[in-house]
Amino acid sequence: MSESLAARSVRTVWHPCTQMKLHEAQLPIAIARASGPWLHDVDGKRYLDGISSWWVNLFGHGHPHIKAALTDQLEHLDHVMLAGFTHAPVVELSERLAALTGLGHAFYGSDGASATEIALKMSAHYWRNRGRPTKCRFVGLAGGYHGETVGALAVTDVPLFREAYAPLVRLAATVSSPDARGAKAAETSIDVARRCVASLEAWLITYAQDTAALIVEPLVQCAAGMAMYDAEYLRVARQLCDRHEVHLIVDEIATGFGRTGTMFAHQQAGIRPDFICLSKGLTGGTLPLSTVLTTDDVYEAFYDDEVARGFLHSHSYTGNPLACRAALATLEIFERLDVLTANVRLARDLDKALAPLSAHPRVRDARHLGMIWAWDVETALPDFARRYHRHAMAHGVLLRPIGRTLYAMPPYVLDAKAVQWLAQGALAALEATLAEERTAA
Ligand SMILES: *Cc1c(COP(=O)(O)O)cnc(C)c1O
Repeated sequence: MSESLAARSVRTVWHPCTQMKLHEAQLPIAIARASGPWLHDVDGKRYLDGISSWWVNLFGHGHPHIKAALTDQLEHLDHVMLAGFTHAPVVELSERLAALTGLGHAFYGSDGASATEIALKMSAHYWRNRGRPTKCRFVGLAGGYHGETVGALAVTDVPLFREAYAPLVRLAATVSSPDARGAKAAETSIDVARRCVASLEAWLITYAQDTAALIVEPLVQCAAGMAMYDAEYLRVARQLCDRHEVHLIVDEIATGFGRTGTMFAHQQAGIRPDFICLSKGLTGGTLPLSTVLTTDDVYEAFYDDEVARGFLHSHSYTGNPLACRAALATLEIFERLDVLTANVRLARDLDKALAPLSAHPRVRDARHLGMIWAWDVETALPDFARRYHRHAMAHGVLLRPIGRTLYAMPPYVLDAKAVQWLAQGALAALEATLAEERTAA
């Protein structure tokens, strides 16, 4: 028999976020095709994509409108460099994003981590151009995640991703996370937000003169295990950043495009950030693209006769026409189908179907915002996440816990049958994993 695709893969493909030795026990799953919320493997088994393939496929896979736009774009222009050139998709996308956010200058990269790098560099360079070169440090929230390139790791507070590279990284400061699970007796989530933002204020009073920007994931710290917090934190943080002359960067890479119920999460706080980072759902999960949107004030600080005062940053694929066209098609779907309203109904159905999981005796802190659900599982299994993932796949559902936090972040295209499939599979996989724990004990 010829060697399987999966076996060939582990010999030659170095898989991301993976200890490759673990593939000795279990090979990766070779996917042949995908359609809507379903992934189909090479053996004909199908899996419901309960995490939108790492939070990117907003409208599932192979959406006809995005496919048609990409096919059309391929007929006209595949790529051209964006220095000294421009094209309709990048112009139209920038105009639309400006209308959606009120930030009228879009700088493009190819993935989330490079958006973080762009925002950090732009912020520090802004202060330098304004004659304040010492303002070059950053502050973020405990447990924050902003990508894993060396620059982005400075503001990513996840020890597992950072420890081995600590000598390479110029660590940013962290202030306490307003994670609502940190509530002390009788505290509400607003109380937690106010308590934590007070510690941000104390920090800024001492360090603002050396600080360029505060970077946050608005409302949900996804990689930290879907830590959710009250919008009050963002409202007060915006005031503090203004008062202490520090930029506010909101990293909407995971929370953007309807994930938290509004188009962008920070809009629930009614604030205007200085920088917005977008990626992941930006192209509906078809092609890599990221962008950093910023204000007239930031833009004008770089606008000068002197070349070196410009933002001299570039990536080869900056503003790739195909990716921009996919992003435009994604935004068109939001408009034409009134996706945010439709999602309110879908979320209600999902919430109902997921109620038995939320009420499970071993689940703590069941939480839900927009199209994100999370449950902390009380378990002694150190490898809970891996075991759960395996059981979920056996039940035809792609779910991949973060530590002991099980979560669902499904595409916005589930029909009634898919809703039931997801909810039943998620619960059955939990029971199967807990049964294993009893056997192990
Ligand atoms: C995924 C993510 C990133 C990094 O994006 P990549 O495309 O994986 O580099 C940055 N910030 C947040 C909030 C993310 O969820």
